Amino acid sequence: MHMNKRALVVGNWKMELSHKGALEVFGALQKLIHAKEFAVDIAVCPSYPSLPAIAELARDTSITVGAQNVHEDEKGACTGSVSVGQIRDFVSWCIIGHSEVRAREHDSNESIARKAKILLGHGITPIVCIGETKEQRDGEETLAVLLSQVDILLKNLDRVSIMKTVIAYEPIWAIGSGELPDANSVYEVMLSIRKRISQSLDNELADRVRLLYGGSVQGENVGQYIAGSGVDGVLVGGASTHPRDFFAIISQVATSYAQ
Ligand code: PEP
Repeated sequence: MHMNKRALVVGNWKMELSHKGALEVFGALQKLIHAKEFAVDIAVCPSYPSLPAIAELARDTSITVGAQNVHEDEKGACTGSVSVGQIRDFVSWCIIGHSEVRAREHDSNESIARKAKILLGHGITPIVCIGETKEQRDGEETLAVLLSQVDILLKNLDRVSIMKTVIAYEPIWAIGSGELPDANSVYEVMLSIRKRISQSLDNELADRVRLLYGGSVQGENVGQYIAGSGVDGVLVGGASTHPRDFFAIISQVATSYAQ
């Protein structure tokens, strides 16, 4: 049973779709979802230029919209960056700390906590990605790395903010690689993260935090991570740009989460 909580399935479209492609994928997805009543929150995260149009299309549908990143400052001479004020009219969610962004922009855990705070201040739910590299996993540092990423959030956010924040566990080596962690190790990770959160909040509030898994998710493999493993949904990259594949994942999550 998942008291007071709905599963969440988030599609990260990365830089994969043209504007026209984004509109087409959204339209096809909406057609598939339209006739169904899923007890799952669904979000898609297009690139910035497509946000206004997708937000318009998503109005009055069961699909919500997120951004893929945001700048940590609200204002400034930051050529090429996008601020929270520039996305707030279009999104309910924003992915932050994605490993591709951490690698490219050298985001620290502190700046990710700062982004989370700014987003929450504007009523946008942060989806904070955490994850270990292959080397860290081989060196048995996985939990230490993940918990240090969680600790910075716990240190910088108040209790209500933590409760609202979504944490996505994405083993970096599993992203886009087709390599999957076994369900047991994901279960162990989720348990440890939730335990850490409950030390800062309390059990009831910690239970309300939504924890997602991400990394090479498909309709055929997602069930093992959801059923009974403390995972409240998934963050999906590649498969989310294919409406039928994304729909299959949403359907499977709806079934598995209810069990
Ligand atoms: C991602 O980019 O967050 C991701 C999980 O990608 P993929 O599903 O393609 O592995």
